[in-house]
Amino acid sequence: MSSDDLSTLRRGAGRGLAFVVSGPSGAGKNTAISALIARVPGLVYSVSHTTRSPRPAERNGIDYYFVADSQFADMVAAGEFVEHAVYLGDQYGTSKAEIKRLTALGADVVLNVDVQGACTLRRVGVPGVALSFVFFAPPSLSQLGERLRARGSESEAEIAERLRAAAREMRSLEIFDYLVLNGDLATAVDELRAIVMAERLRVVADA
Ligand code: 5GP
Repeated sequence: MSSDDLSTLRRGAGRGLAFVVSGPSGAGKNTAISALIARVPGLVYSVSHTTRSPRPAERNGIDYYFVADSQFADMVAAGEFVEHAVYLGDQYGTSKAEIKRLTALGADVVLNVDVQGACTLRRVGVPGVALSFVFFAPPSLSQLGERLRARGSESEAEIAERLRAAAREMRSLEIFDYLVLNGDLATAVDELRAIVMAERLRVVADA
């Protein structure tokens, strides 16, 4: 131990943590992540690229970088993504530039990706960043159906497709470190916060 400053023994001491939050679309993940970031200092959101059309309240560069299929394909070809996946016909990806931009701020990063994205990140990792994987799910699939209907942005056919995707995603639970069930939003946000705090307090393996 070379330093007198014991806080350098913690993994969260400026080392770059990323929280990969994944799970069925419509489980309230976006709302919970926004509330988490508003509440916990030093946390920033990784804005993904997508070829999906913006929903009414969504803003380019804040919720997503909305891009054309051709631009997304060019970025894939140029190796600009840490991970990318097709989710129900649309492309989604986390760019290397976005991760670099956020970690340069000295902040910890929250990534909101589907389960395929989480599996890729688990496999390939991100250099210099310690990843924690959080599965964020509704307490039941029937509640998920109700939430998707209440959101009103998908047709019944799309909702049925999202429920099938959710059932598939639940089967990948074993690659995750944490499970948060969103029965109550405030409790779910508390649990996410507890995960961030625990990871920030973790001892560095190579200290
Ligand atoms: P939505 O269309 O509802 O915004 O997102 C659909 C799914 O795509 C969600 O599960 C969301 O987490 C996921 N997603 C958003 N950004 C990314 C990304 O950069 N990579 C991957 N793999 N999935 C993403």
